[in-house]
Amino acid sequence: MTALTLTRLFSADLAVDLGTANTLVYANGRGVVFNEPSIVAMNVKTGEVIAVGEQAKMMRGRTPRDIVAIRPLRDGAIADFKAAERLLSYCVQKAHNRKIMVHPRVVIAVPSGSTEVEKRAVLDAAHRAKASQVYLVEQPMMAALGAGLPITEPSASMVVDIGGGTTDMGVLSHAGNVYSQSIRVGGNAMDDAIIDHVKREHGLLIGERTAEMIKTEIGSALPLSEPATMPVKGRDLLSGLPKVVTVTDAEVRTCLQECVQVIVTAVRVALERIPPELSGDLTDRGILLTGGGAMLKNLDERLRRDAGLPICLADDPLSSVVTGTGQMLRDFKLLRRISVN
Ligand code: ADP
Ligand code: MG
Repeated sequence: MTALTLTRLFSADLAVDLGTANTLVYANGRGVVFNEPSIVAMNVKTGEVIAVGEQAKMMRGRTPRDIVAIRPLRDGAIADFKAAERLLSYCVQKAHNRKIMVHPRVVIAVPSGSTEVEKRAVLDAAHRAKASQVYLVEQPMMAALGAGLPITEPSASMVVDIGGGTTDMGVLSHAGNVYSQSIRVGGNAMDDAIIDHVKREHGLLIGERTAEMIKTEIGSALPLSEPATMPVKGRDLLSGLPKVVTVTDAEVRTCLQECVQVIVTAVRVALERIPPELSGDLTDRGILLTGGGAMLKNLDERLRRDAGLPICLADDPLSSVVTGTGQMLRDFKLLRRISVN
C-alpha cells in the first residue's frame, strides 16, 4: 500500500455547505457532523476571534462594546475574508474532532454566481484549514441533487433556495446551469422587516433573534387556518424600559409581504427567461423549494398560486445542499464535471 492510499484511508473527506445563515458539514459514512450558524465573534480592536458558530450566535445582540458578531457571508458574497477563513477552519476541525492530522479532500458548495475573487478566498481558506484538495460546486445544483432531482438528465429541473442572505434560483439540465439568479432577499430581510414593523407600530425595539422567532412561529405568506398571536419582549422606544406587546399573524404577514413578493416576482422572471422547451418540463416536474426560508408558512402555497406550477417543498430544507454535496464525495466523476474551480 502506498503512502498516498494509506493517507486517503485515514482521511475523512468532507462536504461543506457554506451558507449565509448556517454552515453544515457532511462526512463520508458519518452523515452531517457539523451544523452551526455562520457567525464569527471578533474583537474589533485586536482582531482576535472570540467565538464561532453557535457560541457566536448567542453573543449576537448582547456583545460587549469591542466585540462584534460577524456573518462572513452576509449577502451570499464573502463580506469578511478573515472571518470566513476562521469559520471554515473551525468547522473542518470540529468535523474531524481528533488530534491526528488529516488532510481531507473537501467539496464546498458556494453561492451560484460567486466571483473569481470570492472563489479564490474560499479555496485559500480551505487550504489553510489543511484540506489537500478542494472542489467548489454551486449551491442550487447541490440542493437539487440532495432533494433527489435528476440533474444530469436533459429534462429541466428548477430549484428555488431561500437562505438567510439570498434567494438563489437555478434551472438545471445536463448537469449544467441553464439559468441562475441570486437576489439579496431571504430570511434576514424578513427579520429586518419585522424589526421595523414592531418599532413603527408598537414603539418597541427588538433584536434579530426575537424577530427570527416571530417569523418562524407566526410568520406566513398566506392566511393561516387558525389565527395566531405571540407575546413579544423588547425595549419601549419612549420610556427605554422593558415592555411586552402582543403581535398577530396578520400584521406579521403584512410586513413580510414585500419580501415574499420580491421572491415570487423573481421566480416568475426566471420562468419567462428560460427556453420554452425547458418550461414545458417544469409544468410536469414543478419547482423544488428549499433553504430555511422555504419553511415560512404557506410560502409553497403562495408560489403554487402565483407561478401556476407544482411546488415541492424539500423534505429537509435546511440540509438539502449539504446532502447533495455529500453525494459528490462518492461520485468524483460527476464532481470533476461540475466543479467550478
Ligand atoms: P443559508 O443557506 O443562507 O445559510 P438556510 O438555508 O440555513 O440559509 O436558512 C436560514 C434561514 O431560514 C434563516 O433566515 C432562518 O430564519 C430561516 N428559517 C428557518 N426556519 C424557518 C421557518 N420555520 N420559517 C421561516 N424561516 C425559517
Ligand atoms: Mg443555503
